[in-house]
Amino acid sequence: MSEDLFVPNPKWFKGGDHPADRWWLDSVVASFRGGWLASSVFGNRNSRRFCALVKFRNRWRSGKIRVCNLPDMIIFAPSEAEAGSVAMRKLDGIFVYLAPMTEFDSQADCDFVCAHELSHVALGHYLLPVEQRGLVEIEANAKAAEWRFPKRKKGRHVFQRLVQRPLNS
Ligand SMILES: [Zn+2]
Repeated sequence: MSEDLFVPNPKWFKGGDHPADRWWLDSVVASFRGGWLASSVFGNRNSRRFCALVKFRNRWRSGKIRVCNLPDMIIFAPSEAEAGSVAMRKLDGIFVYLAPMTEFDSQADCDFVCAHELSHVALGHYLLPVEQRGLVEIEANAKAAEWRFPKRKKGRHVFQRLVQRPLNS
């Protein structure tokens, strides 16, 4: 079920020879075309997660940050306008999840979340068994900061704030 009527800008589907463009086409655009990545919020503006991916690509392409060539990945960023969905999938590869709840954070915090998850990919953390992932969050935060997406929020995540709010507030 979707209310997503947003028509994507054709410019999205173009890219050049830069590794950032190849990542864009092979991972971001491919995820969009595959139905994994919702580009908009309620059909009227680009989602914060999508804007964060654009910002990451632009920063990488401009040479302002150094990014190793990222492997292809599926970016799963479902719309918060969808109550549920059904699909038949064969999953094989790197899978990055960007939660719909992130749309309720600031753009800068959403930028950080996206950069943090991409840094897990860049650092190869997906190869580690779960029990060996003790320091990966610190490493991912450091990599995101190196890419100039520092962790900004002090205190609780937006989801915690929502669920811990008194009912009568
Ligand atoms: Zn993490």
